[in-house]
Amino acid sequence: MPFSKLGLSTPILQALSERAYQQPTPIQQQAIPAILAGKNLLAAAQTGTGKTASFVLPILQKLSKAQTPLRGKRIRVLILTPTRELAVQVEENIGHYAKHLEISSLAMVGGVDAEPQKQALIYGVDILVATPGRLLDMIHQRALHFDQLDTLVLDEADRMLDMGFIDDLEKILQRLPEQRQSLLFSATLSPQIKRLAKTTIENPLEINVASSSDNSPKIEQWLITVDKDKKSALLSQMIIDNNWQQALIFIQTKHGSAKLVSQLEKRGIQAEAFHSGRSQASRSKLLADFKSGEVQFVVATGIAARGIDIDELSRVVNYDLPDQADDYIHRIGRTGRAGAVGEAISFVSKDDFRNLCSIESRLGQLIERRVVEGLEPKKEVPISILNHRPKSNKGSGHYKPRNKVSH
Ligand code: AMP
Repeated sequence: MPFSKLGLSTPILQALSERAYQQPTPIQQQAIPAILAGKNLLAAAQTGTGKTASFVLPILQKLSKAQTPLRGKRIRVLILTPTRELAVQVEENIGHYAKHLEISSLAMVGGVDAEPQKQALIYGVDILVATPGRLLDMIHQRALHFDQLDTLVLDEADRMLDMGFIDDLEKILQRLPEQRQSLLFSATLSPQIKRLAKTTIENPLEINVASSSDNSPKIEQWLITVDKDKKSALLSQMIIDNNWQQALIFIQTKHGSAKLVSQLEKRGIQAEAFHSGRSQASRSKLLADFKSGEVQFVVATGIAARGIDIDELSRVVNYDLPDQADDYIHRIGRTGRAGAVGEAISFVSKDDFRNLCSIESRLGQLIERRVVEGLEPKKEVPISILNHRPKSNKGSGHYKPRNKVSH
């Protein structure tokens, strides 16, 4: 099915053809007509499936027909995202798709000066992409009002709950007009997400493309068993022996990331640390350099890296396995995007065994194990248990703030 059959106008189709999009992805085929028809949506789609365009394109189409002039400090569409990086990236996408339209957009995130954002709101903005914290600040400062709002998007809603934004979300939702179109996107439709949807979205149409094998990103996953103290040697060896050009490497702690960067440097490999201790400006620059290929290896803490979106990222490495099985799925979702094949490699030591079992149970499959000659583990990783259930407070999709930190 071509894009032209979905009811999008010429300026949008032109922008899509300039981006060389040939045809809509499955989520786009389902979501675009539904949103154009004014339906509320509860959509399960992971990053990499084309979910951003699936809501941005119909929103642009509707906005291009908007009749009433926008008043000052007003917005028509609010897109809420869990992280600054994701907000900036969604707004960038809007810029691409709205290239031939007169539609304004703004990313409003924390960690940067609020004044220019306030100024940008003065004459009103069609689409505001915001993280919950900064948005609430702006609401309290009476820098924006929602009486002209007609569409709400909750993007990566599961991450927002995971990151402890439920209270902020509720405060924001209370202020929005009841008459609105609401669209919720989440990697999984967990019971918590359904509960949130129930109170937020009236009678939504449910779309689920997450589990279909032909549109989920193609990711080759495997793991290497290795002793904990040999992980950095293993990483250097993998980079050098396989001539890796790029990798996003996930590590547990900020301290660990700095240490690993210096260990890699000692072996002649240039890498950069990406964590919440760095300023927003330096993180943005680092991401841009990584995207352009100037920086080849980024060592990121899981929390800081949640919103990273890099096209055609060929490889992620879990230097440490995450505590939450859902985080593993999000991490590997950073690769194999939009049809490209990606590789997700995990370094698993005996200490990672519990996390491995949770992840494999969540995936419903075992991850292929390999060893690297000369770095075989002395402390063996036991055989996996596929029906492992994490302890009640460590399960996936929990409600409690895990890391209510600034990113
Ligand atoms: P998302 O799932 O929104 O993070 O999108 C993943 C990637 O797919 C982004 O880099 C988009 O630019 C790209 N993309 C989205 N829709 C299409 C499409 N129909 N054809 C090709 N690439 C697409």
